[in-house]
Amino acid sequence: MNDELTRLARSLRVFFCDSDGVLFSGSVLMGMPHKAKQRSHIDGQGISLLRAAGIRIVFITNEKDDHAAAIRETVEKFNSLPSSKPQKNDGWEPVVLFEGRGGEKKLEAAENFLREHHLTMESAAYMGDDINDAPLLLKVALPAAPVSAEEAIKKIAKFVSERPGGAGAIRDFVNTILEARGIDPLTLPTQ
Ligand SMILES: [Mg+2]
Repeated sequence: MNDELTRLARSLRVFFCDSDGVLFSGSVLMGMPHKAKQRSHIDGQGISLLRAAGIRIVFITNEKDDHAAAIRETVEKFNSLPSSKPQKNDGWEPVVLFEGRGGEKKLEAAENFLREHHLTMESAAYMGDDINDAPLLLKVALPAAPVSAEEAIKKIAKFVSERPGGAGAIRDFVNTILEARGIDPLTLPTQ
């Protein structure tokens, strides 16, 4: 791990994350009553580890209405874990979801969140996989991409995962953050 990545990982306070192509694989199963998407529990556990380390998680997706059902359901699941507030008084902060935000609107949503929580882009990371993620990736201190992202996106990322979106990309990012902060994941609460 290079010095810059270590420094950025240590000052991380908020992880902005794309939905399709990052938390979910980039594919959609059509022809079913509802669109079906695939994600990995490996990444869900990674989200829990970041939350346990005190880092805020914010998903930002271009999808909205029925198309955002899968990410909405996933975020609700994260927020109902026993270690989350309000289930636990001093528990993890809620995972936040912004729907219907693409391109410049992703950047706008992130800026609003940062302002509201007295945080800055200096302490922010974003993981995205396609060109509508570029406006926000170019503003955060730590732009990240899955190995399955478009080449143009990987070129501007300071961290590229080994595993693809929907199958470990987030966990690779989380493992790197924890390692840089000297945190042993085995010492953190897991759900
Ligand atoms: Mg995407």
